[in-house]
Amino acid sequence: MRDLNVRLKAPHERLRAQLHAWLGNVPSGPAPNDAPGMICYLRAWHERLHDAGWSGIGWSASRGGMSASAVAKYVYYEELARAGVPRLLTTPGIAFVGPVLMAHGTEAQRDAYLPRILSGEDVRCLGLSEEDAGSDLAGERVYDEVSFEEVVVPANALIGPRGGGWGIAMGLMELERADQSFANHMELLVLLGELVALAESSAAGIPAGFRDRAVAVWTKCQLFRAFNLHTSRQLDRGQRIGAHGSVIKAFWTQLYQDVAAAADAALDVELVGDDAWSRRYLDARATSIFSGTLEIQRDIIGGRIAGLPRHEIPRGLHELRNAADRARGTAVLDHVEPSEAAQRHERPVARRARGSARRTS
Ligand SMILES: Cc1cc2nc3c(=O)[nH]c(=O)nc-3n(C[C@H](O)[C@H](O)[C@H](O)COP(=O)(O)OP(=O)(O)OC[C@H]3O[C@@H](n4cnc5c(N)ncnc54)[C@H](O)[C@@H]3O)c2cc1C
Repeated sequence: MRDLNVRLKAPHERLRAQLHAWLGNVPSGPAPNDAPGMICYLRAWHERLHDAGWSGIGWSASRGGMSASAVAKYVYYEELARAGVPRLLTTPGIAFVGPVLMAHGTEAQRDAYLPRILSGEDVRCLGLSEEDAGSDLAGERVYDEVSFEEVVVPANALIGPRGGGWGIAMGLMELERADQSFANHMELLVLLGELVALAESSAAGIPAGFRDRAVAVWTKCQLFRAFNLHTSRQLDRGQRIGAHGSVIKAFWTQLYQDVAAAADAALDVELVGDDAWSRRYLDARATSIFSGTLEIQRDIIGGRIAGLPRHEIPRGLHELRNAADRARGTAVLDHVEPSEAAQRHERPVARRARGSARRTS
């Protein structure tokens, strides 16, 4: 299966050729089927990339990277995906936790954490979702509730100024939408190539409807590719991604689900097993939820990019949440005075009650 021919400037094409040659000599080997085996496999793969200097290429040279531009990172992720090798074990660590530490951490924090993230020894993630407020990140409902118990966070683990975490987290989420999407179009094209080969080799012939689906997916992947390249150029010009990150996330979600639907059409089996295609099918469904649900992305696109009228949360959603709270015997948002709630549950619930009063008024 061919791609549209996109030629970049000479240094970027040199980087592509260099990585392509290295990948040709260092195959990642077949991926195991079980989760513990997969972690070992990814760790070993990360180590090989790191040893060859291919981990964290966007990091500054003084921190073990190549100070690569965003377009160079686009090339890097595209080539890894084209070769069908896995992403780095700790992509979130490399793509956004490390850069956040570089921008906001103390020198001691950088020295302690960055080398371990780069080498894959430490696997870092971002935890924003809260109980009862997964999508409602900025809501005052459980805004500053601490869900852990008996956890002591030492003062030297604070990143940035006290009370400045929200701004840092929002900057981090922009990074999440950038680098991480640069591999997506090529990963899906590789999957599509696999499906086409499977459909062509089927004894029963190419299944009805598959050809149309494959053409639609290929076309959207090329569009996505152009959009990712455009995003990388914007980043190199110092522009921020902002709400366009939601277009990237929503487009990818739908395209991945299109690929899953094409797999369903191409393969003569139910995608309910423990094989690679069944796992991808479920993974494609999960993309509607993680990293901000599809509805939330559409809200952002409609309101902040297309300028459509603001979408209000349906009344039913609040009622559903209240019913869940009642069932658990926790705060009943509409009927408890803040002071009464505060006596029962202290500060977090007082927050909930205030948030509710704001919403339901
Ligand atoms: C595989 C996976 C990986 C994840 N990884 C992480 C992670 O690394 N870090 C992390 O912090 N979290 C992570 N999450 C959590 C995920 O981000 C949340 O589950 C998600 O934000 C949804 O929250 P919720 O499930 O509480 O649903 P809710 O927020 O309760 O939403 C329920 C439904 O209501 C809709 N809805 C909610 N608000 C609105 C609105 N304003 N307008 C329109 N519709 C709305 C939603 O779209 C959804 O359909 C992960 C989830 C999954 C499934």
